[in-house]
Amino acid sequence: MKIEALFVDSDSTAEPEVERIATALGLVPRPVESAREVFAAVLAAPDPVGAGKRMLYLTANRGAFIRDCPGTAHYTCCGYRILHIAAYCRMDCAYCILQSYFHPPVLTYFLNRRDLAAELQAEFAKNAIQRFGTGEFTDSLIWEAISAGNEDLVRLFAGQDRCVLELKTKTVAIERLLPLAHRRRTILAWSLNRAATAARYERGTAGIDARLAAAARAAARGYPVAFHFDPIVIEEGALAGYLETIETLFSRVDAERIVWISLGALRFMPALKAVIERRFPGTPLACGEFISGLDGKMRYFKPLRIRFYRAMAQAIRRRAPGVCLYLCMEDDEVWQEALGVVPARHGGLAAMLDEAAVRVCGLSG
Ligand code: SF4
Repeated sequence: MKIEALFVDSDSTAEPEVERIATALGLVPRPVESAREVFAAVLAAPDPVGAGKRMLYLTANRGAFIRDCPGTAHYTCCGYRILHIAAYCRMDCAYCILQSYFHPPVLTYFLNRRDLAAELQAEFAKNAIQRFGTGEFTDSLIWEAISAGNEDLVRLFAGQDRCVLELKTKTVAIERLLPLAHRRRTILAWSLNRAATAARYERGTAGIDARLAAAARAAARGYPVAFHFDPIVIEEGALAGYLETIETLFSRVDAERIVWISLGALRFMPALKAVIERRFPGTPLACGEFISGLDGKMRYFKPLRIRFYRAMAQAIRRRAPGVCLYLCMEDDEVWQEALGVVPARHGGLAAMLDEAAVRVCGLSG
C-alpha cells in the first residue's frame, strides 16, 4: 500500500491495531478530532479522488457493520448482506463507483472489530442461511498488508454452519489466508475481466493471469471460490477476450470448488461520467452508447448485453454445467434471453445463491 498519511480518530488512538498498522506502513499516526480534518486534507489536493487513496483514516464504525445490499426495485438483486469493515480502495479502476459514492472518498478502516464480531454472532444465532460479503465498499483483500482482520473473520465464520463469508478482490493477497482452518465457510472471490480490459481500466490491480493463479491455489487448499465478470466492458472485439478468460479460468480452477459466477455489464450513475473523464482523460470507457435504466444508471443497449451474456454463459456451462450462474442487476427479460431461465423458477435469485452456498460450502439449513 502506498499510503502517505495516516490519520487516527483521537477516540481510537489506544486501539492496539493502530500501532501495528503504523509500523506496517512506516508512518507516524496523526490524531484528529473528527473526520472533517481528514476530509479537508483530501479536498485540498488537486485530485481528491486520487488523494483519498493515499490517506488512511483509522476510526470506529459508529453505525451498523451489517447492512442489506442496496439493490433496486427494478432489477433482480442477490440479497447478500454487506459487512462494512472499511471504505474505499488503494487500486484505481476507471469505472469504480466508489469514486463518486463517498464525498469525499477516503481510505477508511474501522478498528472496533469486537463490535463487528458481536453483530455477527447475533446473526449466527438466528440459524438462517445468510451470505455476507466485505467487497461492496472496498476491495476485501487490500487490507491484508496491514491487518489480520480477514483472518479473524475467516475463523469466526469457521465456527458456525449457517452463514458464509465472501471476500472479493482484484489482488492476489491470499498468503495469510491459505493455511487457515476455514471449513469452507469463506469464499474467496475474484473479479475477472478480459485481460486487455483489465490492463486498460484497472490500474494497480493484479493481472488476470495472476488472479486466476491465486484462485487455483485457494481452490487447491479447499477454499470455495467465486468469480465475477463485472463490469463487462463492451468494445470492439471484446467478446473473444472474455471467452478466452473463461477458458483460462476452467483450465486452472477445479469447477467443483466454484460456488457461483456472476455476469454484469458496465453500468454507472451519470455523475460518475464526469469523474471518469476528469481522472482518465481520453479514456473510451464512458464514450459508448448508453441508455438510462429504470434505476437511473447508464447501461448498454439490451440486445448488446444479452449477446455478451448469452455467449459467456454458453462457454461457462460447457465447462461447468452445474455451476450457479447469475446476472447482476438485470431484469427477467434479460435473464430469459441470455440464460434461458428466470430466477423465480428457482425460488428467486437469493434462494439460488443460498442453495449454491449450502451445496459447495457445506452449510446446513
Ligand atoms: S478494485 Fe474495486 S473497489 Fe478497488 S478501485 Fe477497482 S472497482 Fe473500485
